[in-house]
Amino acid sequence: MRPEKLYPLFAPVASLPGLGPRLAPLVEKLAGPLVVDLLWHKPYAVVDRRFMPPAAQAPEGRVATFKVRVDQHLPPESGRRPYRVLCSDDSGPLHLVFFHAKADWLAKLLPVGEVRIVSGLVEHFNGVTQISHPDHVVPPAQLDEVMTVEPVYPLTAGVTGKTMTKAVRAAVARAPDLPEWQDEAYRTRQGWPGWRQALAELHGPEDEAGLSPLGPARQRLAYDELLANQLALALVRASLRQQAGRVLAGDGGLRGRITAALPYSLTGAQQRALAEIDADLAAPARMLRMLQGDVGAGKTVVALLAMTAAVEAGAQAALMAPTEILARQHLATLEALAAPAGLRLGLLTGRDKGKARQAVLAALAAGEIDILVGTHALFQEDVLYHDLGLAVIDEQHRFGVHQRLDLAAKGRAVDMLVMTATPIPRTLMLTAYGDMDVSRLDEKPPGRAPVDTRVLPLARLDEVIGGVGRALSGGAKVYWVCPLVEESEKSDLAAAEDRHRDLSALMGPRVGLVHGRMKGAEKDAVMAAFAGDGLDLLVATTVIEVGVDVPAASVMVIEHAERFGLAQLHQLRGRIGRGRAKSTCLLLYGGPLSESGKARLNIMRDTEDGFLIAEEDLKLRGGGELLGTRQSGLPEFRLADLALHGELLATARDDARLILARDPELKEPRGQALRTLLYLFQRDAVVKTLRSG
Ligand code: ADP
Ligand code: MG
Repeated sequence: MRPEKLYPLFAPVASLPGLGPRLAPLVEKLAGPLVVDLLWHKPYAVVDRRFMPPAAQAPEGRVATFKVRVDQHLPPESGRRPYRVLCSDDSGPLHLVFFHAKADWLAKLLPVGEVRIVSGLVEHFNGVTQISHPDHVVPPAQLDEVMTVEPVYPLTAGVTGKTMTKAVRAAVARAPDLPEWQDEAYRTRQGWPGWRQALAELHGPEDEAGLSPLGPARQRLAYDELLANQLALALVRASLRQQAGRVLAGDGGLRGRITAALPYSLTGAQQRALAEIDADLAAPARMLRMLQGDVGAGKTVVALLAMTAAVEAGAQAALMAPTEILARQHLATLEALAAPAGLRLGLLTGRDKGKARQAVLAALAAGEIDILVGTHALFQEDVLYHDLGLAVIDEQHRFGVHQRLDLAAKGRAVDMLVMTATPIPRTLMLTAYGDMDVSRLDEKPPGRAPVDTRVLPLARLDEVIGGVGRALSGGAKVYWVCPLVEESEKSDLAAAEDRHRDLSALMGPRVGLVHGRMKGAEKDAVMAAFAGDGLDLLVATTVIEVGVDVPAASVMVIEHAERFGLAQLHQLRGRIGRGRAKSTCLLLYGGPLSESGKARLNIMRDTEDGFLIAEEDLKLRGGGELLGTRQSGLPEFRLADLALHGELLATARDDARLILARDPELKEPRGQALRTLLYLFQRDAVVKTLRSG
């Protein structure tokens, strides 16, 4: 249950003054749906209105405040000319300019003969000081209200600065006094304010310096956010480890048959990872390990051999993939590899219904399936395992924390192995997974030719199409990835469909199209045709991003590469260069590229090292935007900036560890305060893992 004190913060933004049914949805899109979201809506600039020069000496381009007499109204002669209100102080004239203004409104706002305080951006026009659309016009008595430093918030069309400022101010006013959850000694040493004070300072910067992410108020709040994140992860970890683990020690019999039949030998990195996994499986503690390896590093076979050990020990294993396509592909790969050992594999996805599904469930419950492959359908409520011992999650960053918990609940002390191809920098690793044990496949299987990556303007599309045509005649298989249009799956699709039509017209019938709106079976059919020999050119949206394996593909064209995150480009490019053929990746960019856009594409051209790419991406874009998209599933921070607050993160991790060591149930006074913190940052899911108290 959320603490009652927080209720006002968890009301919808529409409950704030000035946000009616028209504005509330706009603000919601900008900052989030709840009052608490506005607390985290940071100003990015300040306007200092304390500057009060004589009108005649006001410098152009600065915001200033004036005390003037209203002399005369000059309505426009024609509709296109502005309305002018001539004012002055002792030094000279100050003209106020209004476009499309209503005369009666202006007459009331600026009555002739009266004195008014006006504030706005100073312009010079024909030698006269003027302000177009002043930000403030008030009677002299309200001078103090205007002569302040105003925060400037990110806005969107339809929401004015005034509206936003008012809403945020009201949100901050609703922030209740809360017991301190930070360690007092640490907070004092850092010189950080208390929570409410920090909010007040965040939204009331006194100057530019007050906006710094390294200022005390901002650091405090960033630390709160990171602490909530680390504590939540630590709680998940603790709850996963609560039950004693089980010993899963294989005798190597089945595994030996599989490895003997492999057409290659395991790399050193694969062997090391496997040894680490084996040790975890055989230990009585519960395994919680990540297998991290670049695209193509060979994680699948490691996962299979790990699952085989579980089967040898008499248990079942499950492999969860993020998409239907991948689940099916994994099944096909694993079936081929596992055949020599006679392992019994099954498939369960959201698409399986009725009798087929019942048959799988029955076999699973009876222990007639050794390894079940599927999507998150694997962990639906009615899926009962005979004895699940090991769960492997592929591309795990796409699954949320609660899915990890659901999955763990499916068996008796299930060991968990999560696999990711996203080369996550250490800092991000911590925020997404906390202290997970990590095995890294830092060595690619031998014999892979490097991918030749080139960066070209879209203007050279014709040349590119010519080159692709030649590659196709030479027998190549080609991916053509279409641009990502933000927040609009529809326009993604339209772009891909257009490109598919154009390329089909040029290259003939062996051009396919795959996109996220297609039904699963359709997608599979297209992928199978591309993997087999029905199609040579595959136009795709980013549905091919994860894991899809067509070793014969050796060319990839990515349109509007500048719109993708680096990590995403890296994942995409990983689809080629899997076989021995020389591969080429063409990154096409549109329009003039920004400096950082250029730098990012050049990184792609210069290296294939996923970790390097990820680190560079973090440097160039900052953690907030890292990995580009919300779909990445990595936590997004509102206050913490991982490129700047890395040290705070490390401290928060240690803090969280210490907290749980001393007070695992969060029962002590500080523990109680920390529960509030978890709610504040909406980590409710993990609070439920705690017994109430
Ligand atoms: P990922 O880590 O991206 O999941 P995969 O497991 O799909 O990588 O492996 C990529 C390709 O490398 C597959 O075609 C697989 O058969 C091959 N492979 C895996 N391990 C080795 C190895 N030790 N030597 C040679 N090829 C390997
Ligand atoms: Mg894979």
